[in-house]
Amino acid sequence: MKFLVELSLIYNEGSELFLTYQKPPSNAWKRARRAYAQRFLDQFVRKVSTLAGQLRRRANKSKDEAELGDIEFEEILRLVNLTASEKAIFLELMQRLAAANFENRRTRRTDSNMDNLIDEALAGCADVIQALLLRASYFEISGNKKNGTAPSACQLIVEQRQKEYVRLRDELIEELQKAEWLNMQKTQQCDQLDNWKKRVASNHYGDEESTSEVVRLISRVEEEYHEDDWVSFYREKETDTNKDGNGMLLPLRPEGWSESTSTKHLTKKAAALRVATTELSRKADGFVNHIRSLRFFQALRAIQLHGTDGMLVCSKCSSSIARPDKATLLTKCGHLVCNTTCHQANNESCPVPTCHALSRSYQKIPGQELGHDDSHSGKVSNGSKIDEIVELIKDLPEGEKILLFIQFDNLHEKVKDALERADIHYADLNSGSGAAKATTLTKFQDDKATKTKTDGSLRKANVLILNIGDASASGR
Ligand SMILES: [Zn+2]
Ligand SMILES: [Zn+2]
Repeated sequence: MKFLVELSLIYNEGSELFLTYQKPPSNAWKRARRAYAQRFLDQFVRKVSTLAGQLRRRANKSKDEAELGDIEFEEILRLVNLTASEKAIFLELMQRLAAANFENRRTRRTDSNMDNLIDEALAGCADVIQALLLRASYFEISGNKKNGTAPSACQLIVEQRQKEYVRLRDELIEELQKAEWLNMQKTQQCDQLDNWKKRVASNHYGDEESTSEVVRLISRVEEEYHEDDWVSFYREKETDTNKDGNGMLLPLRPEGWSESTSTKHLTKKAAALRVATTELSRKADGFVNHIRSLRFFQALRAIQLHGTDGMLVCSKCSSSIARPDKATLLTKCGHLVCNTTCHQANNESCPVPTCHALSRSYQKIPGQELGHDDSHSGKVSNGSKIDEIVELIKDLPEGEKILLFIQFDNLHEKVKDALERADIHYADLNSGSGAAKATTLTKFQDDKATKTKTDGSLRKANVLILNIGDASASGR
C-alpha cells in the first residue's frame, strides 16, 4: 500500500493559516493542542510502533521469522487555493463569529434572541474552530441548491442576510412599541427607556449609519404611539385567549403593584418597562451587529465582483476606488477605505470619523487578497478541497488502495457524496456495528467486489474511509 491520502483537518499549523484575520492563539491553547496531538499519537501511532518493536525483538530471537519491515511512505502536501467566493463564504462566518467574540453560542440555547445564522453554522460542531475549519472545507448554505455553486451561495447569503435584517428590525420595532407604551402609561418615575434613548442618540454604537437607523426607528415609534397599542402585547383578562405570532398566550396587561420581592416598590408597569428596556437594548445590539456584518459582506463581494458589478467607493472620502488592490476592507465594521489617502497601515482605528471601531492589523484585509470572482464560470463544485481529494484519488493507478482519514462527521458525509458523484466506490469504516465494520474491513483487505455496476460487472472498493476520532482508524 503506497498511498495514504489524508484529508488533513486536524488542528495543525496549516489550518491556522485560515485564521490569519484572528488574534494569534494563546500559549494555553497551543499547549492544549499539543496534548491533543500527543493523545492521538499515543492511541494510533505509538501503540503500533511498540507492537512492531516487540515483533522485531521476537523475530531477532528466532532468526527463521522474517523481521517486520517499516512501512515506506512519502508525504506530499497539496496546497489548495480557495476560490474568491469560497473565501467570501469563509470570511462571512469568521466576521460574524468575531462580532460574537467567538463564543460557542450553542451552549446558550435558552437565549431566544440568539443569532440564528451563527447557530446554523455551529450545528453539529464541537466549537467555533471546527465550524471555521468546516466552512473552509466546503460551502453549505441552507437553501442553496444541492448542486449550487459557490457564487450562487454568496448571492444567497446576501439575500438571507437582507431578510434577517428585516426580521431583526421588525422585532426591534415591536419591542420599542411595547416599551414606549409602558413608558407613556407608567405613573411612577422610571427613566430607563429615556436614558437608553439618550445613549443611542449620542452615537452609542460608535457607528453613525447604525445609530441613525435606530434613532429613526425610535422617532417612528414615538410618532405612531397610540394608547391602545397594548393589545398587541397583552391580554386584558385571565379568560382572554389572545396569542402572539408564535401562538403563545400573551401575558396579562400589567396593572397594580408588583408582587415580586425585588420590585415590590414598583408598579407592574414600571417593572415591565425595566425588563422591556433591557430586552430592547439587547435587540438593538444584535440589529447593529447585523448591519455591520451585512455591510462587511457587501463590501467584500463588491471587491470580488469588481469590474462586473458596481464600483468601489471609499467609506471615508467617498471617492471611487479604481482597483481592488487600492482598497482595504476593515473586518470589524465593514468599512472599505481607499489606500491613497484614507488608509494608514499603522492606524489601529477605522479612519471613518463617525465610526469608533478598532481596526488592528489582523482586522484589515488588503483588497487584492480577496481574489476576483467570475460568477459566470458557475462551476458546480463540492468545494475546492474536496474536489482536490477526488482528483487525487482519480489520478492514482488502478488497483491501488487508498485510506482516507476524516475527522468530522459533517465532512464525512460531504466526502462520501463527492465520491459517489465521481463514481468512485468506497468502503466506510465509520458506520455500523463492530461486526459490520469487521466485515467491511475484511472485504476491503481481501479485495472482494462489493458493488454491482449498472452494466452488471462487479466492482471492488479502492477507498477506505476512516474516522480519526474512532478507534477503528487504528485498524483495531
Ligand atoms: Zn478615501
Ligand atoms: Zn469603520
